[in-house]
Amino acid sequence: MTDEFDYTTLATCTMWPEPTDPGRGAAALAEHGDRAAALAATGLTPDPRRGFVHRVVCGTCKGAGTVGAYSGDLTEWEDNAYTCGHCHCSGDEPDSPVDDVPDEAHVIALGDRVDAVTEVEGFAWELVDRLGALGCAVTRLAWQVGRPRNTGWYLVPYPVTAATSTVPSRLLGKDDFEVVKPVYAIKGEGDSPLSMTGHGGNLAQHARWQEVTRRGLRYPDADELPKIYKTLAGNPAAGKPFTELRNPYTPLLHIWRAGFGVDYIDDTIKLRVHAK
Ligand SMILES: [Zn+2]
Ligand SMILES: [Zn+2]
Repeated sequence: MTDEFDYTTLATCTMWPEPTDPGRGAAALAEHGDRAAALAATGLTPDPRRGFVHRVVCGTCKGAGTVGAYSGDLTEWEDNAYTCGHCHCSGDEPDSPVDDVPDEAHVIALGDRVDAVTEVEGFAWELVDRLGALGCAVTRLAWQVGRPRNTGWYLVPYPVTAATSTVPSRLLGKDDFEVVKPVYAIKGEGDSPLSMTGHGGNLAQHARWQEVTRRGLRYPDADELPKIYKTLAGNPAAGKPFTELRNPYTPLLHIWRAGFGVDYIDDTIKLRVHAK
């Protein structure tokens, strides 16, 4: 996987694409009572590291993805005034339970897109591998079926955010804005800056990482960083040249370009597939 990435391809790509094999999942369910067997029958290779998120409706917005407020006119209540900050528009509880048994919705959503799902899981494991070199241990992936979730900024827990975004930005110092300016200038749908979309901030992070690599910079040791970065102590990347590390944002951008979502990354990488 090359780390060169044309960000403009994200401005025009189809997020949440239509299934490539509509009906494949439903046919497998009709033939197999067992949902795990049905999913395997669609052609998706079984993987013990693959889990399934069972949707619990967001308690804050009751699944709407938006919340009401007195917004413009302070005397008039407006339904759906703001996006729900708890579920980031998805309408799903962020901590919906995960296990290794698919719902019917998983069999249909994944079974109708087996080739794309297989490719995206490959990107996800590449991302896991790259994050591992930065001190983030992810051991499984889990699929959620649902509406798009508006994410991008808070995908990974703080120590990894510091490792993947704060450090390159700090190393670039006063040049940082020059590096990200062209990225922020890319327009997406409706002529609004692509950086304003859920995944836009990560394009800048990718560009920063590429630039510190091009400059031959080295990942700092913990004692070279201000105290607020103490979470990076013992980071396996410490002291290594960026040329020996791999840009963690590259596989993330590939997942998005394939039309799939990433909800969150902790010990599990939670992937999202669109369903009607
Ligand atoms: Zn896109
Ligand atoms: Zn909500």
